[in-house]
Amino acid sequence: MTTFDPWAYLRILDIQAFDTALDQIAHKLKNLPEIIEAEKLRAQFEQLKYREVAGITEVADRELDVRKAESDVDQVRMRLEKDSQLLNSGSISDSKQLTELQHEVDSLKRRQNLLEDEEISILQQLEDAQKNLDSIRVELARVTQELQKADELVTIRVANIESEREKIASERIAESKSVPEELLKLYEKVRTDNRGIGASRFSTGQCEGCRIQFSNADLNKFKNAADGELLRCEECRAILVKS
Ligand SMILES: [Zn+2]
Repeated sequence: MTTFDPWAYLRILDIQAFDTALDQIAHKLKNLPEIIEAEKLRAQFEQLKYREVAGITEVADRELDVRKAESDVDQVRMRLEKDSQLLNSGSISDSKQLTELQHEVDSLKRRQNLLEDEEISILQQLEDAQKNLDSIRVELARVTQELQKADELVTIRVANIESEREKIASERIAESKSVPEELLKLYEKVRTDNRGIGASRFSTGQCEGCRIQFSNADLNKFKNAADGELLRCEECRAILVKS
């Protein structure tokens, strides 16, 4: 049978209260709605950055298409001018040659019309790609600003909670000096094995560690024990304290 100074034995409940508060703070930090909101915005931001890169590539590709289309149109236009000048110069008198040249001019005109239509459609595609990129950038600017605000809010919330944690942690350190080392070690071990509960009151009739209801015989045994006598839950081994 192990017995401690009764006053010191009671202090283990204070340590348990500090540790429970610290666990709750850790849980709160992990599940802060501000952090969840910031993470949501960060995911949106990453996705928009990715879409911006794709949008920039799309615009660059369409610009290449436009330059290619312009150069195709220019080439046909130049050939058409050359052939038209030749046709109108009167320097060709052979009628077969003239007919052939006229055919080529006609065919070049058709080709020019076709290429110019294509150029218009490609210019439209470039305009669409640019519009798409612009709208991505507007959205990106909005999300960037929101994310910055959200991160600032998280920093403030975390700092507040951290200072609360530090206050409790230092109170716990001060309080633990009143608890016999042997008892503290036992408490730490049980707490680690027992999802955060190392000590429990038995006066509530239930073990806070494993939620078992104590029998009347057990309760009587605990009540009749000497003050400061080490009592344990048979089920989860939590240290039991009368208070
Ligand atoms: Zn128990």
